Amino acid sequence: AFDMLVVGGGPAGASAAIYAARKGINTGLVASRFGGQVQDTVGIENFISVKATEGPKLVAHLEEHVRDYDVDLMPHQSVSAITPAHEVGGLIEVTLANGAVLKSRSVLLATGARWREMNVPGEQAYRGKGVAYCPHCDGPLFKGKKVAVIGGGNSGIEAAIDLAGIVQHVTVLEFSDTLRADEVLLRKARSMANIEIITEAQTTEVLGDGEKVIGLAYTDRRNGEVHQVELAGIFVQIGLVPNTEFVRDTLALNPRGEIVTGAKGETNVAGIFAAGDVTDSPFKQIIIAMGDGANAALGAFDYLIRTPVP
Ligand code: FAD
Repeated sequence: AFDMLVVGGGPAGASAAIYAARKGINTGLVASRFGGQVQDTVGIENFISVKATEGPKLVAHLEEHVRDYDVDLMPHQSVSAITPAHEVGGLIEVTLANGAVLKSRSVLLATGARWREMNVPGEQAYRGKGVAYCPHCDGPLFKGKKVAVIGGGNSGIEAAIDLAGIVQHVTVLEFSDTLRADEVLLRKARSMANIEIITEAQTTEVLGDGEKVIGLAYTDRRNGEVHQVELAGIFVQIGLVPNTEFVRDTLALNPRGEIVTGAKGETNVAGIFAAGDVTDSPFKQIIIAMGDGANAALGAFDYLIRTPVP
């Protein structure tokens, strides 16, 4: 059995695994996709002490650093359930999607988050055929074409500004009557001639020709009128959903579905810790996730040395 089993291989999980291994304890790391969201990031300019880097480059460094330690790395494995120990200090069971069961005295969840979907007709059918979630990754595919960004928060307006430099025209559709993005971003977006912002617009359908996106339909919430916009791409930027489905019945989650954690990364179940975007920590950033992973690993280590094996 492991002393500490980390679930997730993003910045939080990688950091946690290194901190655990440096304590000389038996450490494992299971991840469906090593690197997590960082794998989808192009430019990173706020990872302090590294002026500028790229997601895949940072992920390669993360993996190299983890592999430098005695960590049992299990990539391409997804966890489907966690079963708490029968007694405090006992073994926690981690069930993989392939049916295998791993056992560990402590478990550190760092499963991160993923883009929220619109849940409208056509979205799934045209995913990757015009419906996109990552402007950094897919923006260049729409060079010279018309696109929409769904969502007027920081990520939506950032995406619009980013895309406006590549595509012909960007229509931003925001559901509410106000834009929630920072003023500095809104000012920048409004100064760009090829960005149009429409508020009180409820996207109702992704329209396609059977092969790719050709437009979208939205309802003007002021008067109920239905409009169609012709475009080639739709970037959905309506927030992040924490990857916590597999612990919904095991751990205390907040109303957003994030794992509620204490100062040492502890959850409401003894021996189970959490770090990074999957938790209720308010800001979701690489440097924060890494610090959080280190913090929770030290918290879990503290638990291990203080808790007798039953
Ligand atoms: P994640 O990176 O989400 O990693 C989660 C890990 O858990 C992955 O390995 C995943 O495969 C794994 N996992 C999930 N579910 C399971 C499961 N059931 N079983 C096994 N493994 C599982 N932050 C910055 O600081 N600067 C930036 O410039 C920046 N740009 C960004 C650009 C984009 C496009 C995106 C999407 C995010 C960006 N962020 C940026 C945010 C940053 O990437 C995240 O805050 C950070 O990656 C969170 O780290 P994490 O380890 O908590 O989770």
